[in-house]
Amino acid sequence: MEILKERILKEGRALSKVILKVDSFLNHGVDARLMYEIGENFKEYFKNHGVTKIFTIESSGIAPTVMTAMQMELPMVILKKQTSKVLNNNVYQTTVHSFTKDLDYELTLSKDFINENDKVLIIDDFLANGEAALGAIRLVEEAGAKVVGLGIVIEKSFQPGRDLLNKKGYDVYSLARISRLDKGVIEFI
Ligand code: 5GP
Repeated sequence: MEILKERILKEGRALSKVILKVDSFLNHGVDARLMYEIGENFKEYFKNHGVTKIFTIESSGIAPTVMTAMQMELPMVILKKQTSKVLNNNVYQTTVHSFTKDLDYELTLSKDFINENDKVLIIDDFLANGEAALGAIRLVEEAGAKVVGLGIVIEKSFQPGRDLLNKKGYDVYSLARISRLDKGVIEFI
């Protein structure tokens, strides 16, 4: 997606070889017009995938996912990051390691928001090691539902997430694919 790549080059800041900050339009400040166009792009790609629900992970996945859900006219569900296990049997939970914070959280989904007939599209802001995406997939599959695709705004292709997901047979569609980061350097595939 060209306008996204231009925006990353203009405003993104590579803090190191692995971390990209895009706080001015995606992670802190949010450019709603850009999110709308991201939603259009995801809709175009996933419109024939039979999606019944769109899932995201709080909090930075929410903005692009709202726009996608609105345009696909589908329900959206936000997977919660809890600090500890919830002791009730109305939730699915799985432990995920956070790449940016270097700590574990319990990714949580209420049983009220999924059923075994669901075909789920998972959207997130970044794909790095694939931990968050794989956690979301575990929750969907534990419910007996199916993941029909993953929509990623920014993929860091030099990290293992995409390969892991592709090897397991998931359809990963990323709007910007970064091949290299370094202080002051951002390169796309
Ligand atoms: P993964 O689970 O694939 O290792 O990492 C994905 C999650 O970590 C995303 O949900 C995103 O919030 C965060 N993340 C990973 N890499 C970056 C990055 O370079 N910049 C920012 N802002 N977030 C990242």
